[in-house]
Amino acid sequence: MSVEYVSTRDKSDRVTASQAVLQGLAPDGGLYVPTEIPKLDKSFEELSEMDYKQVAYEVMKLMLSDYTEEELKHCIDAAYDSKFDTAEIAPLTFADGAYYLELFHGKTIAFKDMALSILPHLMTTAAKKNDIKNEIVILTATSGDTGKAALAGFADVPGTKIIVFFPKDGVSDIQKKQMVTQKGDNTFVVGINGNFDEAQTGVKKMFGDEALEKELADHGFKFSSANSINIGRLVPQIVYYVYAYTRLIKEGRISSGDKINVTVPTGNFGNILACYYGKQMGLPVDKLICASNENKVLYDFFSTGTYDRNREFHVTSSPSMDILISSNLERLIYRIAGCDDIRDSEFMKELREDGRYTITPEMRENLSDFYGNFADQKETSAEIKRLYDDTGYVIDPHTAVASAVYQKYLKETGDDKPVVIASTASPYKFTRTVMTAIGQDDRNKTDLELTDDLSKVSSTKIPPAIEEIKTAPIRHKTTCEVSEMPTEVKKFLGF
Ligand SMILES: *Cc1c(COP(=O)(O)O)cnc(C)c1O
Repeated sequence: MSVEYVSTRDKSDRVTASQAVLQGLAPDGGLYVPTEIPKLDKSFEELSEMDYKQVAYEVMKLMLSDYTEEELKHCIDAAYDSKFDTAEIAPLTFADGAYYLELFHGKTIAFKDMALSILPHLMTTAAKKNDIKNEIVILTATSGDTGKAALAGFADVPGTKIIVFFPKDGVSDIQKKQMVTQKGDNTFVVGINGNFDEAQTGVKKMFGDEALEKELADHGFKFSSANSINIGRLVPQIVYYVYAYTRLIKEGRISSGDKINVTVPTGNFGNILACYYGKQMGLPVDKLICASNENKVLYDFFSTGTYDRNREFHVTSSPSMDILISSNLERLIYRIAGCDDIRDSEFMKELREDGRYTITPEMRENLSDFYGNFADQKETSAEIKRLYDDTGYVIDPHTAVASAVYQKYLKETGDDKPVVIASTASPYKFTRTVMTAIGQDDRNKTDLELTDDLSKVSSTKIPPAIEEIKTAPIRHKTTCEVSEMPTEVKKFLGF
């Protein structure tokens, strides 16, 4: 069976998986969705005998059906190797009745690595398959985390270059250090004199600049983006839910077919959507528990049927979830509307023009798989402390939002099925917040110095990613004005 992809806003725009990976966003502004979601064709017993890479192949071959076995296995092998600090890739830790699925063992110790380590290979393979000769140039503006994860993913991948712009004075010291020490001859990191919005606008302008596009093509290059709506990021995220389920079987915690619940700390809705697709593929997930921080636009959506971005924006201790437009939700809207592209377009037009839309009662009935709730910063910090006091296990603020919301769900419903909580960042990435929560903060130390203290109180080793940036030499010193961004791009590409 061959799965194709259509735009959520125009079903007649049909492409192959590899074309969707190359395109990212559909030309009409919609998101590519699979024409159907295939069922897993191996039993859970069989899958539970496989390692991460083998499970990845069994899941991804179904969704990326125009990649050959050889191509896909090459991509998987290149992605899930010693870049991860554990051979398990995504280990489960049991603490206080819940299974924490640790998605932070990659290069930047956060879950974006799970997808960004394979996306470059899916892209270069797609380019070959579709006879595209031009070298791929990834262009990104970042407020910190995604840029670094993309850099780490694309570094030294043949046939690609990556250029990242960040606000020179608008990221944390650790984030800046992570970026300017990035290795790889194909990487280029530029600090701009401006804020994140200006960096982002500058990048968007270059994407829309036809003269620049032509100039690039004349020199053998083609712009592309690595943003989170690319199906090449979504599909690899289904893998770890299947993997987690099969590890529970392997460890004798559940029997094949038993239902589990899954809790996901949510921002752009990509991670939880991947789990939803996993459920459609036959993974026995009962409730998908969607956890938000104070920016609880999704909680309000699940409880009222109205998505409304017109509200105050909160800067919280879980910054990767500080989002008011969850782009990937559009894929769910399309599906619960009965794969109706016209209706989806109408909702998205309302969102653009009024900042809000309300789904129909029939569509709401199709949301019964989901439960939404939120945790504020106080509750988040209390959850870090509670878990640490009870078990010694330390979680990061994003994971703590999920953990706190799960506790609310448990109290409200009494539903105590085994639960997997997506653990999206290492506590070593947020040492200040974490050490303050457990009452061990030392104000005289820098965030980086606090990693030694965290190591002591949690009896865990400092991840190699942190050790590296402590000593790594600075490789990227370029800064520029917003207006000079295209010039810097051309300079780096050599014309
Ligand atoms: C990106 C991110 C999230 C949110 O994931 P989405 O797929 O955008 O919902 C949660 N936690 C961390 C640490 C992240 O980096």
